[in-house]
Order: sequence, then C-alpha cells, then structure tokens
Amino acid sequence: MIKKSIKSSEFDPDCRLCPRISRHFDDIRSVYPSYHCGPVAAFGDKKPRLLIVGLGPGLHGANATGRPFTGDHAGILLYQMLYEFGFSNQAIATHKNDGLKLHNCRITNAVKCLPPANKPLPTEIKNCNSYLQAELAALHDKLVILALGRVAHEAILSAMNLRKKDYPFAHNAVHEISSVSYLLDSYHCSRYNTQTRRLTEDMFRKVFSTATRLINEQN
Ligand code: SF4
Repeated sequence: MIKKSIKSSEFDPDCRLCPRISRHFDDIRSVYPSYHCGPVAAFGDKKPRLLIVGLGPGLHGANATGRPFTGDHAGILLYQMLYEFGFSNQAIATHKNDGLKLHNCRITNAVKCLPPANKPLPTEIKNCNSYLQAELAALHDKLVILALGRVAHEAILSAMNLRKKDYPFAHNAVHEISSVSYLLDSYHCSRYNTQTRRLTEDMFRKVFSTATRLINEQN
C-alpha cells in the first residue's frame, strides 16, 4: 500500500511514548485492576480487503478487553454491520475469547491507547502514526480503508503522506488514493453519534454497501 519509511514502526504492546496516557493508565488501573490498560493491537485478517480505522480504545471497551471495539457501545453497530455484510462469523463482540472471527477485514485505531476524555492530543496522534503507517505498509494494494470519524481520516492521510486539503472528510465520501485503493469516510459509530442520530443504522449500512461495492469493483 505505502512504502515503509523511517517514520513507520511495528506495533509495540509495551509502548509508553505518551506520558499523559501512561499517567491516565495508572489512574484507571487503580479503579479497574483487571482492565487491559495498554496499547490495543489491530484485530482480524492479516491481508484484508477492508481495513477499518477508529479513533482509539474506549474506556470500558477495547481498553478493558484488549480488542478493538469489543465490550462497549461503539462496537454494537459496527459488529452488527460486519456480520450483515459477511465480514465476520458473529454479530456480537463481548470479550477477547468470544469466538469472533473477521473475514477479509481488519480493525485498528488511529491511537492505540485510550486517550483521556476520548480526545487525543495532536502529539499523541503524531506519536502513534508510525504504527498506523507500518500497518498500512503491510497490507494489500487493493484495499478499502474505512475511516470512522475525522481524526481517523486525518491520521490515515498523514500515514500515507497525503494532503488534507486534497481529501476533505465527509460522511460516505469515497477518495481514490491509488488506482486500486480507496479511502471511505463515515461518522464514528460512537454512543454519542448513534444516540443523537448523527449516525443512524441506515446511514452506516449505506457506508458498508459502498465499501462492498468498491471491493467488488476492485476484483
Ligand atoms: S498512544 Fe500510541 S504512541 Fe502513545 S503510548 Fe500509546 S501506543 Fe505509544
């Protein structure tokens, strides 16, 4: 997909590059000692045609279970859609050993650790971008990258050395990033967005219809 550069690095499960996040983990561990509280690795097929990029782990979701979008509200609609469109073997993700398998799909986050108040600092997004860059470099050329939200969208552009002004974020927008790969945008499937109906089930289904169409057209 993209050339690996000096900026990219393999995922480090013990990364402590962001001091504010490390301190935040210490606080959370004291309240929830069983929580994962560390960088959350990507999950799914190693050579997918669909890569989903979220913002970062949720406090009681990926940060607790250690798997992206698993165990909290944000994963409900996402895994429902993945199942509906044939990208998974079940519609529900509750914990790491729940038997869930993804087909032709991989899920990761722009920021691998839980950011305080779900708002990563620009420096934290930048620090973590080297991991996203390495993940993208390892994938097929024929790829649809689904960005869940603007932060993910901009992190993907940064990882691919593309200019923001050439690829403006818009819900269900398709950006051709090479002759065989696309960046597709969606509002994030967070509790806030689904409860305020900024993102409805039907809107999210249309995004997955777009992703499926793009994958089929690439074949
Ligand atoms: S957010 Fe990324 S760069 Fe920062 S500590 Fe976590 S894994 Fe490391």
